[in-house]
Amino acid sequence: MYKIMTPGPTQVKENVRMARSLECTNPDLDEEFVEFYKETCELISSLLHTKNETLILDGEGILGLEAACASLTEPGDKVLVLDNGIYGKGFADFVSMYGGKPELYTVDDKNPIDTVALEEYLKDNHDYKYATVVHCDTPSGMLNDIGSICPLLKKYGIMTVVDSVSAMFGEEVRVDDYQIDILCGGSQKAVSAPPGLTFVVVSEDAKKAMAERKTPIASFYANLKVFEGYYEAKWFPYTMPISDIYGLRAAFDNIAADKDMLERHAKIGNACRKAVTEAGLKLHLEAGFSNTVTVFDVPGETTAKEILDTMRKEHNIMLAGSFDTLAGQVIRIGHMGSNANVEDMLETLGALDDTLKKLGVSLKADMKEVFQKNM
Ligand SMILES: *Cc1c(COP(=O)(O)O)cnc(C)c1O
Repeated sequence: MYKIMTPGPTQVKENVRMARSLECTNPDLDEEFVEFYKETCELISSLLHTKNETLILDGEGILGLEAACASLTEPGDKVLVLDNGIYGKGFADFVSMYGGKPELYTVDDKNPIDTVALEEYLKDNHDYKYATVVHCDTPSGMLNDIGSICPLLKKYGIMTVVDSVSAMFGEEVRVDDYQIDILCGGSQKAVSAPPGLTFVVVSEDAKKAMAERKTPIASFYANLKVFEGYYEAKWFPYTMPISDIYGLRAAFDNIAADKDMLERHAKIGNACRKAVTEAGLKLHLEAGFSNTVTVFDVPGETTAKEILDTMRKEHNIMLAGSFDTLAGQVIRIGHMGSNANVEDMLETLGALDDTLKKLGVSLKADMKEVFQKNM
């Protein structure tokens, strides 16, 4: 088994794995399970600082993004797609798939979205039903300031769909303060449960928009309205994956008990970036570094494949490359959720130091030492 230091899926703690092996009831017919599901949803809402309702859907993170777009988009709707990364741009596909008209707002992919420039644009262009925003665009590690972007869009009457799959719980998310209409999360990033579940947090405005649709939602599985009234009726739209949800609950109980989770991510993120830069490597971004992942450019002396292979074969550690336009260009260290601990970071940076030297890269500092000094 490799030590997983990727930006998702992340390491899964033993109590989460054990919870998935608990005895099962019939989740369709046992009202206690309906209570358990609802309590778990309420716990997620409280951890995200909101009164809005959370729904757990039976599908990987992508299902949440698709369900948000499917449920809000009607044929012909104009949707603003904020794009400074691969997931950012990717939202346009979900919008078009459900008949919407995506308009890309494409900006520099090395810096976070500039809210001053965005406001300039919105002054003349605000005829959108909603906008899509990515909190951490994982392939580059870009962190966008959803705390200022979402209220700004709301001021212009634009609802927001936010993908915080790889940021939430490693970066602060306050749904009510940020006025987010649909927030999407997944089980396999900082939440540190296995892949397989997504959850969405839905505002009253988003529910109203769904209720006022003139056309039906063109999906069943990616349809948030099918959950309407599930609790009162004690009836789920489809059979819930009970073991996955037991595991997810254990993961959220871990988060609820972990009072300095955000602070730890901030410290580890900062120390990791220092280690990388003081060693003479180049961070891929200019600004907007997410504390959940560190992304650096592959040095000219070697290749991404050689680095990843050597880390696995000689150190038993799995790091990630990237994909799409960033394939082969960067290496990603995922320090989110259970991965975000000092021991694993020291082991990883020590191994990376060895690996790079072995591949002919001369480093200006000992990464492990720099990391430790900054913790
Ligand atoms: C991981 C992730 C998702 C979930 O989908 P994958 O199939 O794992 O890509 C969605 N959005 C972001 C930003 C992610 O990092």
